[in-house]
Amino acid sequence: MKNLNRDQVIYTMSREHRPVLTVKSGETVTVHTYDCFKDRLIPEDSSFDSLLFDELNPATGPIFVEDAKPGDTLRADILDISLAPLGVTEIDPEFGCLAKLVKKPVVKRLPVENKKIIFSPKLSLDLKPMIGVIGVAPADRDIPTDTPDSHGGNMDCTQIKTGASVYFPVSAKGALLSLGDLHACMGDGEIGGCGVEIAGEVTLKLTVIPAYQKPYPVVVTDKEVMAVASCKTVDEAWQKAVEYLHDYMVSETELTSDEAVMLQSIAADLSICQTVNPNKTVRMSIPLKYLEAYGYRQK
Ligand code: CA
Ligand code: CA
Repeated sequence: MKNLNRDQVIYTMSREHRPVLTVKSGETVTVHTYDCFKDRLIPEDSSFDSLLFDELNPATGPIFVEDAKPGDTLRADILDISLAPLGVTEIDPEFGCLAKLVKKPVVKRLPVENKKIIFSPKLSLDLKPMIGVIGVAPADRDIPTDTPDSHGGNMDCTQIKTGASVYFPVSAKGALLSLGDLHACMGDGEIGGCGVEIAGEVTLKLTVIPAYQKPYPVVVTDKEVMAVASCKTVDEAWQKAVEYLHDYMVSETELTSDEAVMLQSIAADLSICQTVNPNKTVRMSIPLKYLEAYGYRQK
């Protein structure tokens, strides 16, 4: 198994970046990541003023996957996420859906102990590790790591967790995957702009699916299949997520278009991943077993 330390980070996803690691299709790699503040709020004596705004959302990578080429899909199986012992969250009068209620930046450090996140002596939160930023090089432009789009990126999807498989459309030779911005937990919507931001290590298996591609990211867990859309507004994103899941259901199962619309209406869920990034992200999810009843086989 290969190992990628975090001294190589990028702040854009781009086909121009030089790969820092090469793996074969089907190979497993452990990737070490900083938190989204490059760990600058972790020291006790740090404060909001410690942040360097050109060092937000570092993503470790990119990883060149042999044989991946435009028109293929890269499947990333998330095998394990292990977290540092201390995370941090922050609220800010300049950022987030309730910014007008926040008078000044507030930073809170949150220890992770015995699979719980210590919010206060009264309250320990359930640990729900997830990956905020994961994506491949976009087709025709550089996209900052704070921005999600069809290449993945800062999707902040709570379902990108251990056991999930994420499918990305490959647009560059080698796919050039990078990732970072782990969260110990995050609420759907991420309304204040932060989860429990935390450093860690992700072990993932990267597999090329040749000559097969959807123009949007897909996430499959043991229970659900979901299509992910990121657009300028939440309204645009939910419409796209609905269309993407419909496209996926019709192309990957024996369902007719009408049956897919009907099933989406009666059995699929729209969820807001995040409301705070330059593009907003929405997913639509349907139970895996419903698609399997119509011949779905995970690629
Ligand atoms: Ca994020
Ligand atoms: Ca984050």
